[in-house]
Amino acid sequence: MKSLTILGATGSIGRNTIDLVAREPDRWRIEALTGGRNIDRLAQDARRLGARIAVTCEPALHGALRDALAGSGIETAAGPAALVEAASRPVDLTLSAIVGAAGLPPGLAALERGGTLALANKETLVCAGPLVMASAAASGARILPVDSEHSAIFQALAGEDTATVERVVITASGGAFRDWPLDRLAAATVEQASTHPNWAMGQRITIDSASMFNKALELIEAQQFFGLDPALIEVLIHPQSLIHALVGFHDGALMAHVGPPDMRHAIGYALNWPQRRALPVERLDLARIGQLSFTAPDPARYPALALAREVMAAGGLAGAVFNAAKEAALDGFIAGQIGFTAMSVVVERVMARMTPEIGPDRAAMTLDAVLDADRLARIRAREIIETMD
Ligand code: NAD
Ligand code: MG
Repeated sequence: MKSLTILGATGSIGRNTIDLVAREPDRWRIEALTGGRNIDRLAQDARRLGARIAVTCEPALHGALRDALAGSGIETAAGPAALVEAASRPVDLTLSAIVGAAGLPPGLAALERGGTLALANKETLVCAGPLVMASAAASGARILPVDSEHSAIFQALAGEDTATVERVVITASGGAFRDWPLDRLAAATVEQASTHPNWAMGQRITIDSASMFNKALELIEAQQFFGLDPALIEVLIHPQSLIHALVGFHDGALMAHVGPPDMRHAIGYALNWPQRRALPVERLDLARIGQLSFTAPDPARYPALALAREVMAAGGLAGAVFNAAKEAALDGFIAGQIGFTAMSVVVERVMARMTPEIGPDRAAMTLDAVLDADRLARIRAREIIETMD
């Protein structure tokens, strides 16, 4: 039996993880489940899976969680510090499926304690890649990617010498507005941006797919996780979302990972690693699918990609600033304060303004420095949003 903690258990990735775990109850002992405002779901799953502790990140909802778990013998806690405490409890595997930079402190806590971290929360690596990798190296913890593209790269690299890699291609569906006329994008609504052509995901990552901020985060995530030269990493639009990534080696071979757009594949791969166990995902009928197509992304439609290149070149705290500005801009879009295309304008302005404030690449990145940069970038982004009409 393996012990498992799921951070962000009530979200899209968290629920897909629970779907897999609940099919094999004899294999898993659940230590902690964490969630946010959806107390009913958190409590229900904590009971069903026999978790030892359930934690909500919302301090005001602790009473509701306690009531929902009364008589179950399951411990409860609330707030960011409780999240970090829960993540520090010894387990074989921690799956981090929190959305946003809020996933960084508990993710780091899990790494400091050792064991394995299955990482869906890409923001952990985007904000603090060097710190995260150093922390894993110091404790001997292992990180397994759960983002589908990074899981695909990881699988294509299995048994290979990374020194022979000459390119890595991350695919993107192109999101909700792939085929829209460019001049309509500024007026795109939250509802329109929240519909993904192929994947069913949380609302924030779905909107980030339409703007390709998600792919921008993934470029940085790949650079940090695999230690790649940014010049080797490309993005290709692949509308069918069946090839998740390709790795090119210096003999000219390209290894592609092909699978259905179902996150249970990448989650299951991380849960079962280093084995491959049977997973309840669709088997592709390639003759029926017929064709796979690829195009280069248009920089005018997806300005987030060029911003990610700037972040990769700058290093240091630039990732934390980029991500926080993006989160604040996304909040502004969801709240109706700014339009869809204004999100990248906000991020660009925050980056330009903060480059002197955060200084050049710092060799010794600390969690405090990352959290400060994150806080300041959100303030700057909100200032910029207020001046926009
Ligand atoms: P989601 O919004 O569906 O779920 C997010 C989870 O985090 C919920 O449990 C929520 O309660 C919790 N949460 C939200 N704010 C929090 C906070 N401030 N502190 C602590 N917990 C908080 O998100 P998702 O789509 O499941 O995505 C989760 C992560 O996985 C993101 O980093 C996303 O980029 C990444 N990811 C998601 C998918 C996908 O298919 N959904 C695919 C690849 C990567
Ligand atoms: Mg992805």
